[in-house]
Amino acid sequence: MPRLTHEQWQALATSQTFEGRAFIDGNYLAAESGRTFTTVNPANKQTLTEIADCGEADVNKAVAAARTAFEDGRWAGLAPVRRKTVMLRFAELIREHADELALLETLDVGKPISDSLNVDVAGAAYCVQWFAEAIDKIGGEVAPLAPNLHGTVTREPIGVVAAVVPWNFPLLMASWKFAPALAAGNSLILKPSEKSPLTAIRIAALAQQAGIPDGVFNVLPGAGETGRLLALHMDVDCLAFTGSTAVGKKIMACAAESNLKRVWLELGGKSPNIVLADCPDVAQAARTAAGGIFFNQGEMCSAGSRVLVQRGIYDEFVAELKKAAEGYRPGDPLNPATGMGAIVDEVQYQRVLGYIELGKQEATLLFGGHAVHTDTGYYIAPTAFETSPGARIAHEEIFGPVCAVIPFDTEDEAIAIASDSDYGLAAAVWTRDVSRAHRLARRLRAGTVWINCYDEGGDMNLPFGGYKQSGNGRDKSLHALEKYTELKSTLLKLCP
Ligand code: NAP
Ligand code: MG
Repeated sequence: MPRLTHEQWQALATSQTFEGRAFIDGNYLAAESGRTFTTVNPANKQTLTEIADCGEADVNKAVAAARTAFEDGRWAGLAPVRRKTVMLRFAELIREHADELALLETLDVGKPISDSLNVDVAGAAYCVQWFAEAIDKIGGEVAPLAPNLHGTVTREPIGVVAAVVPWNFPLLMASWKFAPALAAGNSLILKPSEKSPLTAIRIAALAQQAGIPDGVFNVLPGAGETGRLLALHMDVDCLAFTGSTAVGKKIMACAAESNLKRVWLELGGKSPNIVLADCPDVAQAARTAAGGIFFNQGEMCSAGSRVLVQRGIYDEFVAELKKAAEGYRPGDPLNPATGMGAIVDEVQYQRVLGYIELGKQEATLLFGGHAVHTDTGYYIAPTAFETSPGARIAHEEIFGPVCAVIPFDTEDEAIAIASDSDYGLAAAVWTRDVSRAHRLARRLRAGTVWINCYDEGGDMNLPFGGYKQSGNGRDKSLHALEKYTELKSTLLKLCP
């Protein structure tokens, strides 16, 4: 399909209009309080539009609509094949509106338009399609019981699901929640980050157009407080969260304080990317490592932000990493050739620059280390430090284009450094030796281990989530359905 040019995207951006209201029970509505907040384009610091700031009254209204829709079975009660048909149509509508959705995402968060199209929107459409296709393929079990008993084990939708999602892949992370939750028959309330509400708000109308009944898919824009109200709500059955570990802990506490709703957390990371001297190709490993930390401006939960390099290849690797980083020169996100866009907002920009200043004190700068295009927007050059494993920049999640490169000597040392983290989201190992690869993969406590690649697996078949303080539960794959269903045992005693 022919794609648009830089000038065409700029023209579209100028004429784009924005919906900023909540979507509750099938209607776009202002917040009851009338309160709004602004969402800003970080590439040029211009305000895009006003967004409804949903409070308690809106939360109550959305939860009540979702509850009614769930109880009367307008969605949960449909034959799985009917839900499948509607969701396949939903996936198609996302594809038909790909340019518009990609534009909204890029304007809202500053990511390159090519990534919005090829990763975020394409990935969200595929996720909806994948779970749609699964709906009528999975059944329950018949338990192996005594001859006079008949027992079935079935999965039922859990009820009202709230999904609270972050700003780094707004639509994609949302789809990893809403697609399996809707496929399983739940009603849903989506709370996007205040930094990135536009695609969530827009997609609600596409869900309705596809035939998802009113009340089943609701969107409540707002700040963290809106998420907290959902986490505390007595009539929300499940809260699926992607975001920081700090907020994940608060959400668990809210569940404990309220109704013990199921809480699923996809949290942060500081993932080690371990390059051994016998890796198949140093230049390839370095190019992949650059993508692992500089893609999406480094705003990635699974970023390979700690690159551990065995000393024998260290100098060669660092030279190749520097060369590869040139492919991520920050530029206008609306240019299809741009490899790195703007940081999402001023708060995150200052946070990343703060870590860069810290790095200059506690480590050695290898390249980058400064902001660029400062008169235009929030851009930061791809940056790497050589550091000892104990440095703060080697421990704390920066969530920006900053790489901690750590030299090591032995395999055991690499594992010790890699394991010295509260996080356990992902890890990678580069080696030509198959036994060594598996030996190390077994020792790494992470939800995903890549061998001779990084961030591969854009398909939906591999579950994604964390060990340790990177969270619990898994997005993607059929395992994701476990989060949005309850398991029911039904036992029938047969008459003699
Ligand atoms: P965040 O600050 O934790 O926010 C995530 C979401 O929670 C946002 O919608 C936020 O709303 C909301 N929120 C804030 N305070 C809340 C509270 N007290 N109760 C309920 N909800 C609340 O994270 P972020 O800065 O958006 O995203 C970056 C983090 O997400 C990083 O740590 C990253 O590693 C993680 N992440 C993890 C994955 C994964 O799959 N494991 C994927 C992507 C990102 P507001 O933004 O409106 O305040
Ligand atoms: Mg914005």
